[in-house]
Amino acid sequence: IPTEFKEALPILQKIEAAGYEAYFVGGSVRDTILKRPIHDVDIATSAYPSEVKELFKKTVDTGIEHGTVMILDHGTGYEVTTFRTESGYQDYRRPDKVTFVRSLKEDLKRRDFTINALALSESGQVFDLFGGLADMQHHIIKAVGDPNERFNEDALRMMRAVRFASQLDFQIESETLQGIARHSRLLEKIAVERCHSEFVKMMLGVAAQNGLNVMLDTGLDRHVPVLGEHEQALKQLANSPLSLQNEVQVWSLLAFTFGFSRGQISSFLKKWKTANKIINDVILTTELLFAIKKQQVTNWLLYQTGAANITNAIDVFGPLPETQTLMSRYAELPIKTKKQLQITGGQLIQQGVLQPGPELGKILDYLERAVVDGQIPNNFDDLKAAAVNFLNED
Ligand code: ATP
Ligand code: MG
Repeated sequence: IPTEFKEALPILQKIEAAGYEAYFVGGSVRDTILKRPIHDVDIATSAYPSEVKELFKKTVDTGIEHGTVMILDHGTGYEVTTFRTESGYQDYRRPDKVTFVRSLKEDLKRRDFTINALALSESGQVFDLFGGLADMQHHIIKAVGDPNERFNEDALRMMRAVRFASQLDFQIESETLQGIARHSRLLEKIAVERCHSEFVKMMLGVAAQNGLNVMLDTGLDRHVPVLGEHEQALKQLANSPLSLQNEVQVWSLLAFTFGFSRGQISSFLKKWKTANKIINDVILTTELLFAIKKQQVTNWLLYQTGAANITNAIDVFGPLPETQTLMSRYAELPIKTKKQLQITGGQLIQQGVLQPGPELGKILDYLERAVVDGQIPNNFDDLKAAAVNFLNED
């Protein structure tokens, strides 16, 4: 069993010694059985939150109203959640009411997919009440219970199904798939940020091609921002395997495929509530992608794009002849940032080349570009002479 579980065992043992049940649950159990790396260890218990808090010295109420208490243990935090059932779901996204219960079965029943509804006890016993192990063996994503009910309760589960299908390279079981097709429009009830997170994880999964195809086949693409307006382009993308490394690459590939301008990229990604830093990187990466396609990559463009986004563009475009020399061309640029210019604004003034004022910025911009383009060597004397010339010509 993985070290993450071993380290958390004393927590399970302590809860059990006090007469309650406690299990590892959720993604960490699934990923352990699939021999995949695990990130967060979730623990479920029959103890109520107040009872959990009595047992441990250091706890944080991270989600106490949902029954989650974080136990701090030697610098690691473990989320311990009381067995619960959920009811209500009037808004297709969150339960109106959670009820704490003492039964593991009731808790597993509210979980989304059979592969996510397994519990692992301290002694290593797996509790598989919904056929999750068999589904895992057959590489199947299947809703726990009636898929129609489950997607009606919480529409995000549809995107989660697609995400797991891509991450694990599993197939979605046919009734679950039909349920998604039938309820796809409910996705509009879900906060965009939550769809965003599942969609990006899906696009980064090993079987993103399948994930995209499922979105197209079930109509989910029509109920997330913008994608539904570009189905032909998406179908093209879903024709071949994708291998994207990060979120910037995901959006850049889409923006490039859709032929988006800067302004269109910005409005596309704002609709998806994407972070501004990511939007900027996508704009730079996509601009380089268009230039690669037209075989018009200048040194100035490489300089502006920067190493990280050049790598992003190369990853998206693929290891083709067009991209092979881009990194070495970048490495050979005389400067990588304006700070590396061998003259400063202060020095230009000190040397009496010009007075402080708006001209200064223009001159530095000119020198930066001329050095990058290889027109002026990057040393003090040449830069000073070029600045003098520039002023005389003006
Ligand atoms: P990841 O590896 O991405 O963390 P995960 O399966 O652990 O995947 P989490 O969002 O961390 O996903 O949720 C932990 C567990 O909680 C899930 O395995 C599942 O049992 C349950 N769960 C999470 N979200 C839902 C949901 N929307 N509906 C029902 N059960 C859910
Ligand atoms: Mg998890």
